[in-house]
Amino acid sequence: MIHRKETVALANMNVVSSKDVTQAEQDKILRAAELELDTSKLEAGKTEGKTEASTASDEWTLTEFATTPKVSTYLVAWANGPFVSIESSYTSPLTGKVIPMKVYTTPEYIHQAQYALDVKVKVLPEYERVFDVAYPLPKLDTLVASDFDAGAMENWGLITGRTSVYLYDPEKSGLQGQKRTAGVQSHEVAHQWFGNIATLNWWDNLWLNEAFATLMGEVVILDRCFPEWESASEFINMHLDRALDLDGKRSSHPIEVPLQGENVEDAINQVFDAISYSKGASVLRMLSNMIGEDVFLKGVSIYLKKHLYSNAVTKDLWDGISESSGKDIASIMANWILKQGFPVLSVTEEGDSLKIKQNRFLSTGDPSADEDQTLWYVPLMLKKVGADGKVTTDRELYLKSEREVTVPLQDAQNANYKLNAETVGVYRVAYSPERLAKLGAEAAKRDGAFSLEDRVGLVGDAFTLAKAGYGKTSGGLSLAKALREDPSYLVNAAVSGHLASLASVWWEQDQAVRDAIDRFRVDIFGPTAKRLGFEFGKDDSPDLKQLRAVAISVAASAGDEWTLSEVKKRFGALMANGDDSQIHPDLLRTVFAQAVKHGGEKEYETVLGVYRKPETPSHKIAAMFALCFTQDEALLKRTIEFPFSGEVKEQDFMYFFSALSANPKGRRAMWESTKAKYDELSRRFAGNFSLSRLIESSFNALSTNEDADDVERFFKGKDVSKFSMGLSQGLDAVRANARWVQRDAEDVKAWLRDNQYLA
Ligand SMILES: [Zn+2]
Repeated sequence: MIHRKETVALANMNVVSSKDVTQAEQDKILRAAELELDTSKLEAGKTEGKTEASTASDEWTLTEFATTPKVSTYLVAWANGPFVSIESSYTSPLTGKVIPMKVYTTPEYIHQAQYALDVKVKVLPEYERVFDVAYPLPKLDTLVASDFDAGAMENWGLITGRTSVYLYDPEKSGLQGQKRTAGVQSHEVAHQWFGNIATLNWWDNLWLNEAFATLMGEVVILDRCFPEWESASEFINMHLDRALDLDGKRSSHPIEVPLQGENVEDAINQVFDAISYSKGASVLRMLSNMIGEDVFLKGVSIYLKKHLYSNAVTKDLWDGISESSGKDIASIMANWILKQGFPVLSVTEEGDSLKIKQNRFLSTGDPSADEDQTLWYVPLMLKKVGADGKVTTDRELYLKSEREVTVPLQDAQNANYKLNAETVGVYRVAYSPERLAKLGAEAAKRDGAFSLEDRVGLVGDAFTLAKAGYGKTSGGLSLAKALREDPSYLVNAAVSGHLASLASVWWEQDQAVRDAIDRFRVDIFGPTAKRLGFEFGKDDSPDLKQLRAVAISVAASAGDEWTLSEVKKRFGALMANGDDSQIHPDLLRTVFAQAVKHGGEKEYETVLGVYRKPETPSHKIAAMFALCFTQDEALLKRTIEFPFSGEVKEQDFMYFFSALSANPKGRRAMWESTKAKYDELSRRFAGNFSLSRLIESSFNALSTNEDADDVERFFKGKDVSKFSMGLSQGLDAVRANARWVQRDAEDVKAWLRDNQYLA
């Protein structure tokens, strides 16, 4: 690479030589390489069309890098800029070699880069131990980029990513920021094996990269390095629910999806979604639970070793795991990988047995006979509680790609049992209303038979099934009420998410009903918010910190008086004299958003000031969200225009689109603005990962069939190939919302009345 002398040149491999070159030498090199260089485009300091004052010299350096091993072209990377770095190293537990590792940023960010480096040093040896394959390159750098379309990218030896995922300030970023940095860093390091050492044959096998990086990076290895975060349990909230949410839509796709033919690049861009990442990771987690994690990881290691520096397809992975487990993994997993969707199990209690039947789940609850043909291989994981209170799980029961199975269970109607123990399966379970109430009662017991994972799974099942018409929303609400004393962050996070979704979809129902939903949310979360308060103790566990943040967030957004008065007081200090010391980093989003929501221009300007000069990326994200929560028409208009003002990087449009859609006051305006700005959006984001998500989030919170018709009308005749998946998934979401309201509006009203939230 020929670059200005004062800049830093980076590539996948280490530098082997670096020397100053004169203009004449440069010309010679370029001619030799048959490159025609237009030097007028190389004027100092010219970026993004803006000319900045520059002190760039006219001295040039030629840097040569070592040759990479055999590598897929999408992993080739080089970078050049005014970077500074911090350095560490690790000693390979397999080879004893010392591998240097750096994190590069532009100078203003380097003081927040230490943590990303520490995480890399901590996780890398773990991967080597687990896979028994050494990291093969002579170095592993991370470059933090100030504008980046995706979250991060795993280029071999030179990981790149955006500031919000890599920068962390121990005083100012908070636990959410810390977990994000660790999770993303670990995910990208996992790719150094999954994707880089053994790579996919073609993009239809993308899941082999992303599902593994998700499962290994964000669960298995993260849990070993940071057990206090309970990442393995959080997987259910973070990935399993997300996977099932998307895969319940008609517009979903199989994990392994054919990608050929016309517009193939557009199609490839769109499969970097919850199916490839989260559903892929979920089915691997299920398989790992079926055969045992040691056997699973052994099989993965066999697979990796057989495909070092070469391409692989799904079957190769199954061959490796079949070898370690002695089971025919390909036939067990076939439908999970090759078919769209997942099953819902319905349970009937008959005498001394349970009859369990599988059908395709759809978020609209209406699969046709044709759509309901797939029969999956399902581990039933029957958890039983004996009369003596002893808990056992039968791990050998399966629905072996058959429609129905009957399993023995003594006095089934009065037995204490639950399917999908530890929520390891990729399916939902529909129980009768009576059984759901019994499960809720058991789940609510302190030290009851149901684990944290069981309780989180129950909440997800109850609400998702209600939303799709397999159950009633009142059943979910009763379960939420039964679990109100649950001490864990994850159960509370699941409940809060589903109640927020109810409040959001019910946005155009009677004010009295909406107020009643908020009263219920305040009733559940208000006391916890007040008990835990806004101050964080230095010995608080991660679980307690996150519980506090979620309780305060729900209580404030549902209008709890005490919580809102605290918000006002604490934001007041920031507004008056720039003192943000009363706002803990993990409460930034809530405090900013509620201050703007309940405030006026002064609050808005204060948050805008934070956006323009953020202390950390977390501050900036919190500010972006908050600007979207104003209730004032004029300010709302400003926010809607803001992304197009030149003050917002393209990587950040997403925050505005999703937050404006989340604000009922901004929801329709967001969609109208998207229609008005469509030409600009499709031009500016052509080829970006984010276009599909931007389009989808601009309308997917709407909840009537008329809205869905309007969206369809608008895109009719337009070329939607770059975001066809996002468009149809968004439309499915709107129609599912509409059906949910139509089906359960009366049910919800009756429940609120019966429980004294509605007069
Ligand atoms: Zn990835």
